[in-house]
Amino acid sequence: MRKTSRIRLLAILLAGAISAGQAFAQAPEERLVPAPKRAAGDGLGPFKTLVIRGAIVIDGTGAPPVGPVDIVVEGNRIAAIRSAGTPGLPLRPNRPPEKPDYEIDATGMYVLPGFVDLHVHAGGPPKNPEAEYPYKLWLANGVTTVRGVSLAGNEFTVREKARSASNEIVAPRIWNYQRPGSGWDQGQVDTPEAARAYVRWAAQNGVDGLKLGAGRPEIMAALLDEAKKLGLGSTAHLGQTGVAQMNAIKAARLGLGTVTHFYGHFESLLKDHVVQTWPVDQINDDEYMRFGQVSRLWNQIHPPGSPEWKAYLEEHKQLGTTFDPTMTIYSAGRDLMRMRNAEWHATYTLPSLMDFYAPSRVNHGAYWYYWTTWDEVAWRNYYIRWMQLLNDYKKIGGRVTTGSDSGFIYQTYGFGYTIELEMLQEAGFHPLEVFQSATMNGALTLHEPKGQPIEFGVVRAGLLADMVIVDQNPLENLKVL
Ligand SMILES: [Zn+2]
Repeated sequence: MRKTSRIRLLAILLAGAISAGQAFAQAPEERLVPAPKRAAGDGLGPFKTLVIRGAIVIDGTGAPPVGPVDIVVEGNRIAAIRSAGTPGLPLRPNRPPEKPDYEIDATGMYVLPGFVDLHVHAGGPPKNPEAEYPYKLWLANGVTTVRGVSLAGNEFTVREKARSASNEIVAPRIWNYQRPGSGWDQGQVDTPEAARAYVRWAAQNGVDGLKLGAGRPEIMAALLDEAKKLGLGSTAHLGQTGVAQMNAIKAARLGLGTVTHFYGHFESLLKDHVVQTWPVDQINDDEYMRFGQVSRLWNQIHPPGSPEWKAYLEEHKQLGTTFDPTMTIYSAGRDLMRMRNAEWHATYTLPSLMDFYAPSRVNHGAYWYYWTTWDEVAWRNYYIRWMQLLNDYKKIGGRVTTGSDSGFIYQTYGFGYTIELEMLQEAGFHPLEVFQSATMNGALTLHEPKGQPIEFGVVRAGLLADMVIVDQNPLENLKVL
């Protein structure tokens, strides 16, 4: 009797400690400094008429390069794409328009649609105090559109999205995805009714889509059903604590748009169990265990090419699921030393961000306090299977996109995105397929839930003038990016 009451007391104390801890933690994004107003000299334009002369175009649809062409831009849109001559011969002289407001000589250069990063966060202290830092690194790496999942809190993101759209700040185009409950003051989203109420509120308050976890089935069903009715998109990180009841195929059957990261795929393909066979001392909140053990899934699944593997991909294709793998963000796991010593850290990674990456039991993604050869080998094996899954999905016509999730695990904003492109090539994608994923596929994934045609993501007359110019051939070497 006495013993029972002591145990009860202990349980109550623990519950108290947990809620106090949650109240204490202030999300870093709430202290993020908005970007400063665009200063004189921060870019050029806008121009009434701008011409990019003599370029080779990779249009983003998967088509081979064409050119040389002149791309005529009027205001914010591509007005025309015209032949500028014949490959191997001098450009044809006296090409219209004769007196544009501004000209870019892109002779011998490559023009592509601006890249779409479907998985970003803008950070916040202690990592990077200011939003200007990721914005400019994204742009400098060719990322002109980001899907924040979330970029930061809802109010902040709605404001920054509008400021970016009106050209008041130097930042990519922002799409605002938020977690259920974000920005809402009407309590927990823990019933189907609350889930629907939140989604209705979100649709009225500047939210473009939902960032979900592996929630309870009845709540996921309500969130996804309401989101679909109201034209909101959805993407889910189907984390380990919920994946046993909400893996990727179950979520897709409920209407999930995008599976982000790898979580949920292999849990849908388990061979002998319905859960991953965790070690008996596994504690999910120990990030070394969490990130070290998840890779051990690689040989607990129906193997590549098996009937179950094929059926899994086929069903996702029928359901229209997008795979947004973010391979880059876990890539330090297969070769920690490489990412820790990446050449760009010295010049571009803020000291405070570098500190955040350093081994720590507290900082998210800094689980290096015990990282072994076993862990790296398991991750390498994991990547082989994961890449096969992505490439097989692409081969049957499934949509694969690009996302980075930088700001953790030695992946610095912008640079991490280019690594994602290289990893897709490693997975078996031709660079033209890589760019299709990075541009058109990303734009389709953003626009489709709204029932709208794409506005960017392809270099085509009529679409927004959202392009990147590269001075070398990126098909020959993605590193030129
Ligand atoms: Zn993320």
